[in-house]
Amino acid sequence: MPWCAECDRFLSPPTVRGDGTCPSCGRPVEPARAGADSAATEEPVPFPWHLKLLAGAAAVYLGYRAWQGVVWVVERF
Ligand SMILES: [Zn+2]
Repeated sequence: MPWCAECDRFLSPPTVRGDGTCPSCGRPVEPARAGADSAATEEPVPFPWHLKLLAGAAAVYLGYRAWQGVVWVVERF
């Protein structure tokens, strides 16, 4: 939440002017601090190795099935 040190109070973000100044005193206000939840979402999420394995297995399986489909179509002609 934006904080105006001059007025010694918090400001709701919509009341802060577009240039980041306080509507009451015109002083620049402290920008809103990033919450703990937003900091947590910025952390890189490690991709689980078993999901990579699953994706690789699915790719191999789908490629195999696609090849089977090609063979099936070719053998019909
Ligand atoms: Zn102010």
